Amino acid sequence: MIQYQKQNNMFFSTLINGGSVFSGYTERSVGDGRHADVILSYLRINQVIFKKLVLLEQIHSSNIVFFKNENMSEIERLPEVDGVVSSDRQIVFAIRTADCIPILYKDAATGLIGISHNGWRGTFKKISQHILDEMVKRGSDMSQIRVAIGPGIGSCCYDIEEDRHIEFLEEFGEDFHSFPMRGGRRYLNLLKLNVALLIRAGLPLSNIDFFPFCTSCHKEKFFSFRRDYKKHHDQFGEMFSFIINNEG
Ligand SMILES: [Zn+2]
Repeated sequence: MIQYQKQNNMFFSTLINGGSVFSGYTERSVGDGRHADVILSYLRINQVIFKKLVLLEQIHSSNIVFFKNENMSEIERLPEVDGVVSSDRQIVFAIRTADCIPILYKDAATGLIGISHNGWRGTFKKISQHILDEMVKRGSDMSQIRVAIGPGIGSCCYDIEEDRHIEFLEEFGEDFHSFPMRGGRRYLNLLKLNVALLIRAGLPLSNIDFFPFCTSCHKEKFFSFRRDYKKHHDQFGEMFSFIINNEG
């Protein structure tokens, strides 16, 4: 279940948080996550104990890495990466989104955690499958992996060009029920497609949490690229999502 935690200004998944793992999807009142100092001060205010903040320098790819901490710097940036898996402790992994979907991963049995940035490009390239494959390669059993899909743009607000709509239909087919048409316009249901891809990858539905609200519809809680980037650029920013395994 996704819950709202007022004192931390964030949403979180009950499938992911618990034991030594702490994670969240921050709301827009926290500030613009494109600035590392906003994330650092949030972590400090909320008394998260960590050795390092790892920021993914996202490029809408399906590139993922297995992270091992090898230096003492407080911030480390992973270039040209949209997903990461790690078993390291006390490392905060963060991604920034505003309509694209943040996904968190955890396997309590192996201690592996992961995070990915899933816009339409990353979803098309099945980045979540790459994360699951990496976790299985590192010893996870698919039945033990928990996944939580965070706030992204809903199909209510995500109309797309005909060419792209056809491209998605050809790649995934009608069975995914993720490419609706309304009033002559074509839409993409990024959330539904991501859930369907996780299930197709072998994850049980009961291991998946997903976020029920649309970033574009809920201005008070979320930044939205679609809603604000061109029309209200001064109000545009990105939320950040993070995950850490705090075990000492
Ligand atoms: Zn909407």
